[in-house]
Amino acid sequence: MSVSISLVLVVIFGASSYTMFRIQSDQAMEATRLQAQILTRALKNTIRIGMESGHANSLISIFHTVGSLPGVEKMRVFNEDGVILYSAKLSEIGKLTDELDYDTYRKPGPDRSTPFASSSTGHRSFCMVEPIENQPSCRRCHPAAREVLGVLDVCLSMEETEKKIESNRLILLSFTGLAILLTSLLNSILLKRFVSTPVARLVGTMMSVEAGKLDVKVDVQSGDELGRLGSSFNEMIRKLAEAQAEIERFHHRQLARADRLASLGEMAAGIAHEIKNPLAGIYGAAQVLAREFPEGDVKREIVEEMMSLIKRLDNTIRDMLNFSRYTEPRFAKGNINDVIEKVLFLIQQIREGKRAKIVRDFDPAMPEIEMDAEQIKQVFLNLALNALQADPDGCTLTIRTYSDVPPEIEDLKHHSRFVMVTVSDDGPGIPADKLGKIFQPFFTTKETGTGLGLSMTRKILDMHDGWITAGNLLDKGATFSVFLPKEKL
Ligand code: ADP
Repeated sequence: MSVSISLVLVVIFGASSYTMFRIQSDQAMEATRLQAQILTRALKNTIRIGMESGHANSLISIFHTVGSLPGVEKMRVFNEDGVILYSAKLSEIGKLTDELDYDTYRKPGPDRSTPFASSSTGHRSFCMVEPIENQPSCRRCHPAAREVLGVLDVCLSMEETEKKIESNRLILLSFTGLAILLTSLLNSILLKRFVSTPVARLVGTMMSVEAGKLDVKVDVQSGDELGRLGSSFNEMIRKLAEAQAEIERFHHRQLARADRLASLGEMAAGIAHEIKNPLAGIYGAAQVLAREFPEGDVKREIVEEMMSLIKRLDNTIRDMLNFSRYTEPRFAKGNINDVIEKVLFLIQQIREGKRAKIVRDFDPAMPEIEMDAEQIKQVFLNLALNALQADPDGCTLTIRTYSDVPPEIEDLKHHSRFVMVTVSDDGPGIPADKLGKIFQPFFTTKETGTGLGLSMTRKILDMHDGWITAGNLLDKGATFSVFLPKEKL
């Protein structure tokens, strides 16, 4: 781009300089022509007056004086045959004039002037020939038959003018060169500053994004097209990062679900083993017992009935273990504030609940959302009971509801599509190394705990397309945040 612009500049500046040079040269030529014209006319009149007044001899000294003026190269009068009659150089008198001057005289048309370059002088000269016609006043001395009495030939040197043009040309060339250089330089600097560097930054960021780094940003602050491109690109990266976070969350949920299903499967296998073996033993024993009684005996019939019941029990256990523990939610519109209010009423009936201080901070703008109120009640009951158990001697349980997820919660695409509820306590909090485990089935730190409360909570929220996060408060206690979509996704 820089090279092309420089080339265009060279052509434009070059053409304009050349044109200016040509104009200057033509103007100089015109000025010389004017000078020659004035001088020739003035001399012609002087000759005529000198001749008429009978002072022909004084013409020689006039020729000599005017002819030695600076810039006058030639000044002579020749006759129709080209023989020089008067000249500023006395030595020329009687000789034949130059062929060029003679030809110029012979040239048809009124303009008898010729600019030419003389090889002997090394510069151009401007010559003008002016015929001296035979006027009636001349016929006193000259025969009337002669039309032209002589030809005045004046040549002016263009040496000085050429020198000036040459020096002007040099100045013009230097300024043109300098202008091209400076414009090209400025152009390169501006291109680098406003185009190359921001584009290079953009490309660098694009490459980082391509390599999977989504925490990068283009640093283009200008308000021009590149600036707008940069901010659109940043917006694109932000959306990409959001989409990736969402995919990761989804993936994480899927993994967690798979994890839990696997654990449940293991648990089912364990229970099946524990129950099925004794049942098989009981069945075998019943078979032996049945053989003790003769066919048709009432006792034998009772034992056989027992055996069929054991068989049924065995099937039921197998089916039950194969069946998922959680039922599908039955969705209906409801207000989560009301559900929590019911939970708070329930926990206030137990001993720890009576001792606790309960802080409600409910968003009055909470919309009705699609949920299974019974299952959601179970969720908050689990969380509230855990909070009370964290400090059984008088916990402060704080429940806050938000009709929109607050903007400071990051990594979420549509904050207004979800409601949020936080359940916090002022207990000992969750140790950092346990935070990753508390949602796993059977993880418990309590003596009488089952470790199924939080895993079930997560399962229910999963089925509602919601999620839960756990953390510790800065000062004291744990906090759980529950997110639920307002409409079913
Ligand atoms: P359980 O209550 O039967 O132990 P949960 O799944 O409900 O099962 O909880 C798992 C574990 O998470 C608890 O044993 C406890 O260690 C931890 N936990 C849950 N809630 C809190 C809380 N509010 N404060 C501190 N730890 C908690």
